[in-house]
Amino acid sequence: MKYLALIIFLSLACTKKDSPENQVFDIKHQHGKASLNMTFEDLKGEATLVIGGYDLYGFEHQAKNAEDKKKQEQALKFLSDYFRKMISFNQIPCQYETQKVELREGNNHSEVQATYNITCEKNIEESYLILTLGQFYKDLAQLDLSIKTSKIHFQTEAIKGLGTFQIK
Ligand SMILES: [Zn+2]
Repeated sequence: MKYLALIIFLSLACTKKDSPENQVFDIKHQHGKASLNMTFEDLKGEATLVIGGYDLYGFEHQAKNAEDKKKQEQALKFLSDYFRKMISFNQIPCQYETQKVELREGNNHSEVQATYNITCEKNIEESYLILTLGQFYKDLAQLDLSIKTSKIHFQTEAIKGLGTFQIK
């Protein structure tokens, strides 16, 4: 009988917890914070943006109905279509192509990872990155920015996802 009680207790304890996947999300759970990592090899680069669901479409629970789903779909499409308006390199024309926009939904935290291919007409080293992400996402408090080339690793925290930064 003691043994049975222990089993019941254990199963209750387990159902209270989120799945392991959600626990990983919860560790990073911080609204208003996003990251943008870029790596360049000469003229070609890849950019990966990770941003919380709350900052993108206003909630982080799993989509409960058609309205939630629509909000998510629109936000993901916007991120795919308008990334090229959120960053630019001063005086250097670049092409942006969406590689993938992936929604990772947890119970309490959801985030989106978007990856883009970038091809620029000149090497971006020593040039200026103009970041306007915060104009589109007003709840963004901080963006962790990293830009790596063969010579440079530039890192900074862009307050509100806005600013102009020399890549050096
Ligand atoms: Zn969150």
